[in-house]
Amino acid sequence: MPSRYKTLLLFGPPGVGKGTQGKLLGRIPGLRHLATGDMFRSLDPASELGRKFHEVSSRGELVPDELTIACWQKHVCGLVSGGGYAPSRDILILDGIPRSVAQAKAMDEHIDVLKVIHLRCQNLDEMIARMKRRAKMERRSDDADESVIRRRFAVYERETAPVLDFYDASLVREVDAIGSPAEVLRNILNVIVPVYNESFGNPLSEPTEHSEKKEAIQGQAKG
Ligand code: ADP
Repeated sequence: MPSRYKTLLLFGPPGVGKGTQGKLLGRIPGLRHLATGDMFRSLDPASELGRKFHEVSSRGELVPDELTIACWQKHVCGLVSGGGYAPSRDILILDGIPRSVAQAKAMDEHIDVLKVIHLRCQNLDEMIARMKRRAKMERRSDDADESVIRRRFAVYERETAPVLDFYDASLVREVDAIGSPAEVLRNILNVIVPVYNESFGNPLSEPTEHSEKKEAIQGQAKG
């Protein structure tokens, strides 16, 4: 197993489409999508961390760094031991983390960042409209209220945007997030495919190692 997980960061403001793109990317053999928002939402709401998450996210704020990193580490270890993520052949696509410079520093010993995909959309009103639609569809209380949404953008500018400067400029790729999901996906894949090929080659060329995902794909194609 590699000492640091080979990782791509999906980076950008709330509502820019990281979740939509992350889910699409996660269907591709060799890519393992992990969204910290989903990770936190899957916690038992009665647990201490679950309560803390609800309390801060409904105000549009971030979970404290130490708790976030501890939870993320535990979650990744669970994925590895459960077979949901194989660091020797999958690239980890992180969505929603690191969200502060302190998190980026703490994660540096665990992740080898191959590229930072900076999704950009200059149209704030469009992003707010997307978040309101998402609030209805996914019943997300943190997206329902416009003042909370605006707070999240302010937190993004203050805490998260500086993370870009933590990484070497040569790692950062600006990607246009305006367009249909397929168009944005194409823009992202233009960055990812060469990186993946350089790191691992074709994930389906080793039938023994990749049989599970391959079988799943073949099953989908048949069904
Ligand atoms: P979005 O992508 O729309 O900003 P997420 O689903 O990624 O929203 O996150 C929802 C909430 O989960 C955040 O507002 C924050 O409270 C919490 N959260 C997610 N990731 C992190 C993180 N890396 N550090 C701290 N809090 C986080």
